[in-house]
Amino acid sequence: MSHIFPRHTKSLPPMVSHGEGAYLYDCDGKAYLDGSGGAAVSCLGHSDSKVVAAMQAQLGQVAFAHTGFFTSEPAERLADRLISLAPEGLDRVYVVAGGSEAMESALKLARQYYLEKGEPKRRHIIARRQSYHGNTLGALATGGNIWRREPFAPLLIDVHHVSPCYAYRGKHPGETEEQYGERLALEIEEKIAELGAENVMAFVAEPVVGATAGAVPSVPGYFRRIREICDANGILLILDEVMCGMGRTGTLFACEQDGVAPDICAIAKGLGAGYAPIGAMLCSAEIYAAIENGSGFFQHGHTYLGHPTSCAGANAVLDRLVDDKLVERVAPVGAMLRGALEERFGQHANVGDIRGRGLFLGIELVSDRDTKAPLDPSRGVAGKLKKAAFAEGLICYPMSGTIDGANGDHILLAPPFILSDDQVGELVDKLEAAMKTVLG
Ligand code: PMP
Repeated sequence: MSHIFPRHTKSLPPMVSHGEGAYLYDCDGKAYLDGSGGAAVSCLGHSDSKVVAAMQAQLGQVAFAHTGFFTSEPAERLADRLISLAPEGLDRVYVVAGGSEAMESALKLARQYYLEKGEPKRRHIIARRQSYHGNTLGALATGGNIWRREPFAPLLIDVHHVSPCYAYRGKHPGETEEQYGERLALEIEEKIAELGAENVMAFVAEPVVGATAGAVPSVPGYFRRIREICDANGILLILDEVMCGMGRTGTLFACEQDGVAPDICAIAKGLGAGYAPIGAMLCSAEIYAAIENGSGFFQHGHTYLGHPTSCAGANAVLDRLVDDKLVERVAPVGAMLRGALEERFGQHANVGDIRGRGLFLGIELVSDRDTKAPLDPSRGVAGKLKKAAFAEGLICYPMSGTIDGANGDHILLAPPFILSDDQVGELVDKLEAAMKTVLG
């Protein structure tokens, strides 16, 4: 009997043996092409020798030193590097152990910023129904994923959710993308007016929505309007790039493509690329100054802040992404994968939408392409697809939609940036086989 507490108590998954490049191997020697990088984590693939060497060297030097006593060279270097690469205005880096910690830190920093500024009434958060921001209670409250929230609803702080930017289902027929974005912007302005701008502290969004919807980018101009609205009302813009950041969409920060810079940005997954449990919150000089000139202490913290070994890993990941130009592979390899998906599944009776940016792609499944009616949830297609793909030797990330009851099952693909042309073909072949098994 195992004493592991698995995700599903009734089944234990196979045991992983090792990883190499774009593949993971189980203990029976079966190879799995990592088509989703786990959950959009393994952007470099597995067993990257430079990252392994950097972490081994750091472990030999000093594995851990608590930030209550020390800063460390790898943490300082990581912060400098991230700021040199980050959108204009971001100036300070708070290094944590994962995405939920980064988002929780972001929310608390926003609150403390307004306290330090003498605006204690600012406490409301506006977020979007189609979103996931983490599983800790503050982050969970901010996210809009109904299924994840439901059991814990009585424990969650009040967050005000507005419509997602989800053109496939939200854009009216005849409306241009710009008009659709403007309509959504007006909804946010109305929500702010309803709450009173002086009571609102932050608007929170993923630039490209990941786990709740399968790689949904915004329409052109949407985030620029949101930036304007936040500025006009003195509200902080918090962007959650935990999943879509670190090159996944083709630029190191996803928001670069939307032409906006946030006041606070959360990153994680690709920052450690799976080699280290690490995340980070980046904030503007103004926010930092309010704390520095006020209490001088951010009233928050986690044991593994600035973990030296994790930071050494993240520094090596950034070397691979930036110096070795792996981010530059994302747009062309992503275009090739997207083209192959469109060719293979574009006419599939159950494929409603193929979307995304870079190597962050989603396929939305429907029962009827014309009406966009979702698949019957009782069929459990997402779960079956995950199993069937796994049997084929493909890791992909299918999920059931639970937003507004409107969207249904979808598949998220987020393979490593090192994916070869042949592996693009292999991914699509294996996905097609899984789709045939499940959908016929
Ligand atoms: N935000 C987003 C956008 C995410 O996709 C996730 C993880 N799927 C999180 C936050 C939470 O990150 P973690 O699981 O590392 O706590």
